[in-house]
Amino acid sequence: MLNSVVPIYFDHNATTPLHPAALEAMTRALAADFGNASSVHALGQQAKAHLDTARARLGALLHADAQDLVWTAGGTEADNFAIRGIAEALEPRGRTHLVASAIEHEAVLNTCRHLERRGWQVSLVAPTRDGLVDPAAVDAAITPQTALVSVMHANNEIGTIQPVADIARLAQARGVLMHTDAVQTVGKTDVDVGALGVDLLSLSAHKFGGPKGAGALWIRRGTRVAPILTGGRHERNRRAGTENVPAIVGLGVAAECARRELSAHAEHVGALRDRLEAGVLAAVPGTVVNGAGAPRVWNTTNISFDRVEAESLLIALDLEGFAVSTGSACSSGTLEPSHVLKAMRLPPARTQGALRFSLGPTNTDAEVDRLLDVLPGLVDKLRSLTRMPAAR
Ligand code: PLP
Repeated sequence: MLNSVVPIYFDHNATTPLHPAALEAMTRALAADFGNASSVHALGQQAKAHLDTARARLGALLHADAQDLVWTAGGTEADNFAIRGIAEALEPRGRTHLVASAIEHEAVLNTCRHLERRGWQVSLVAPTRDGLVDPAAVDAAITPQTALVSVMHANNEIGTIQPVADIARLAQARGVLMHTDAVQTVGKTDVDVGALGVDLLSLSAHKFGGPKGAGALWIRRGTRVAPILTGGRHERNRRAGTENVPAIVGLGVAAECARRELSAHAEHVGALRDRLEAGVLAAVPGTVVNGAGAPRVWNTTNISFDRVEAESLLIALDLEGFAVSTGSACSSGTLEPSHVLKAMRLPPARTQGALRFSLGPTNTDAEVDRLLDVLPGLVDKLRSLTRMPAAR
């Protein structure tokens, strides 16, 4: 049976709790607004009005024209839509090369790999040791065949904020389209599509207080993107399928709340993250923050614990009621170290012991204090049991 105790939740980059206002609006929409937004009758038009309101709210959050937003079923679909949609549109013109960073989310990396199997060339640009993508390295990777550059706005594991505007400027100068996966910044920082200068931007509702399975792709007006879901004429022929109205209502309300609460949250959560990070470094010897030398989104810290297997510490913390995460993936029973930390060329001891703490607006000082009380003892215990050699 699952433990029903609500943990102290430091895993907001994985997902966030629904904002109470989004929950309320969704509950109402689920109960009453069952109309199909394509229907001509009043119930259908009411559903369509909900979609329009949500679109306007999301447009306001991104400083974007609402008409340039296409609903998707989350960040993964938005990334797929951007990359596959541009690939299909530009392949007939001989553009069969993509540039992405090596620290993208799997939604981007595995979509690039899919195109590679279809004969496309893909260049993955390695980051610096601080987890930053160098615009000059992206520029150097662009060829006359390049269709698209895709570099994420903030990394989900270490929180580093990439120089997307600089990269977009370079891409534009070379006649290449630019996509950014902004799943980890929309709703956390002031994302302005015009200031970023990109052509396509992905986002996901469940990372900022909205529901899972809802997201959007912003497409600069005039950019040709082939649809990846074909069928009816929804979303002005850009994405077929009856819209999930309650989820989109929730996304819209979460976007509206995020816009209003952005600076208060940045201050509150940023101070908590800084205190957690400084507290761990002071209380636990043999710790180091990954990506510390780069600008980082204010809610994330990724800390390596010397002579500790991060998964063991994650489980020990879980038993104490804390939800955190590692970047490693479990495939066929073996733990693969994080592709992000590996791409930063960190030594294995540092990648194996890396834990991500990602905070949100509902976290409190008392929760950080509780972690700082418990963590040193857990690390001591794991170190006393390990045969891992000291890394430094
Ligand atoms: N891109 C990034 C950077 C993410 O962190 C995530 C989710 O973890 C995704 C894409 C995928 O978004 P979704 O879970 O909405 O499919």
